[in-house]
Amino acid sequence: MHELSLCERLLELLQEESQRHAFRRVTRIKMAVGRFACVDPEALRFAFDVIRRDTLADGAMVDIDQPPGLVWCEDCACEREVPTRLAPCPACGSLRLSPRGGDELTLVELEVA
Ligand SMILES: [Zn+2]
Repeated sequence: MHELSLCERLLELLQEESQRHAFRRVTRIKMAVGRFACVDPEALRFAFDVIRRDTLADGAMVDIDQPPGLVWCEDCACEREVPTRLAPCPACGSLRLSPRGGDELTLVELEVA
């Protein structure tokens, strides 16, 4: 499962951070998972719940933000929000779009103790 390997990476990152910044527990984790990141936030949450048992992140609150998919429409010269990567511009129907966001998969914020 894709989400499980992501969670393993996340946990490694948390352990590295805990050594670098000398904290022992993570109390809150905020992540951004873009609409186009091909990750299901609920599956991610579930996988993380399984993998973090008896680790420094056990019991931490997990917030997952889902930034919308953004594109730049060449024809409107404007940034638009689209529901899928292949959707046309919602304002003018153009397909001359460049991706501007929505693939993020990042750790935004940590609260630690
Ligand atoms: Zn447009």
